[in-house]
Amino acid sequence: MSSSVILVTGGSGLVGQGIKHIIETEPEGSRFGKRPGEQWIFIGSSEADLRDAAQTQALYDKYKPTHVIHLAALVGGLFKNMKYKLTFLRENILINDNILHASYKNQSQKLISCLSTCVFPDKVEYPLDETKIHLGPPHESNFGYAHAKRMVDVQNRAYKDEFGCNFTSAIPTNVFGPYDNFDLEDSHVIPGLIHKCYLAKKNGTPFVVAGTGKPLRQFIYSHDLAKCFIWMLREYDSVEPIIFSVGEDEEVTIKEVADAIVKAIGFEGNYTFDTTKADGQFRKPASNKRLVDLIGPDFKFTPFEKALDDTVKWFVANYDTARTGKNKKAA
Ligand code: NAP
Ligand code: GDP
Repeated sequence: MSSSVILVTGGSGLVGQGIKHIIETEPEGSRFGKRPGEQWIFIGSSEADLRDAAQTQALYDKYKPTHVIHLAALVGGLFKNMKYKLTFLRENILINDNILHASYKNQSQKLISCLSTCVFPDKVEYPLDETKIHLGPPHESNFGYAHAKRMVDVQNRAYKDEFGCNFTSAIPTNVFGPYDNFDLEDSHVIPGLIHKCYLAKKNGTPFVVAGTGKPLRQFIYSHDLAKCFIWMLREYDSVEPIIFSVGEDEEVTIKEVADAIVKAIGFEGNYTFDTTKADGQFRKPASNKRLVDLIGPDFKFTPFEKALDDTVKWFVANYDTARTGKNKKAA
């Protein structure tokens, strides 16, 4: 890229801040570091409400992005997704449609949007791979979010066919890291449990894990995911989506996640499972073969326990400013 303006929507969130960290800390000019001629712009919702087409266009008028990494979305864990199915569907459809259309109208050279392994069918042969997105309905718990995100893949192909646009998408598994949403109820499992375990240690309150602890998940550290996005921006040009994940053999149970959090926080009490709460999808193992084939075998993921430890350290050091939600005040 000679001279480029790279706009990162959702730049204030978990994944956006991960990309900002890597771009700013990797050696300049290196595979993942900032390159000469690049201008990176990270924006949150205060800069533009992307549900609104006029505000989205004004953003493109202001920055004239040559490249866009589109992360902005209404995001939440299992329980928030179950509560707000229509809101997840509608807001994400609006945001995505506005960004895709503005990227086309303003002739951005490249757009990468972010899906999630939640988009895959509930009942399909494992492992999940990039060919299976549309082979059946998603798990009912993610109904709204998954359908909105699937449509991005459909739209990418239509924009390419009709207008020749260079649009593509990435499909990360469950992400965690600094700047996550650590709300007690609406967050994903790792930030939610880190916050709950932290309060249990601090206040002597019970540490309760939702569900049976038996479901399995693959987790990716936001700093590793950031490198995958930067690689995709610079080295990949195809509409075909790519799963961004650790290997299939790196699934962990929710109980193993809770045990690792207990260790990282240094919590010495016992914890319990609230089996009246939903487990969600039992597992959704995804293949990272396509990613590894393309990015190369030298790409290394941070070991889960090290990434978790770094995330817990960040949370403890930034507790006063981290996104902990309304419940923080009551704690
Ligand atoms: P996040 O931390 O909740 O950040 C969401 C970002 O979107 C924030 O920057 C937020 O801005 C912005 N945003 C939300 N609504 C907006 C709107 N109406 N207009 C403009 N900006 C808006 O989420 P994340 O975890 O980084 O997620 C980033 C992407 O990764 C999303 O597309 C998500 O679907 C995908 N993903 C996440 C996970 C995961 O486990 N977290 C897994 C797979 C895929 P403010 O900060 O101003 O609110
Ligand atoms: P998912 O991977 O899309 O299902 O999203 P989550 O990150 O919300 O993970 C959900 C899994 O973690 C389910 O099996 C939940 O029962 C379990 N879980 C245990 N405790 C919590 C918690 O405090 N918050 C969330 N979101 N999930 C939890």
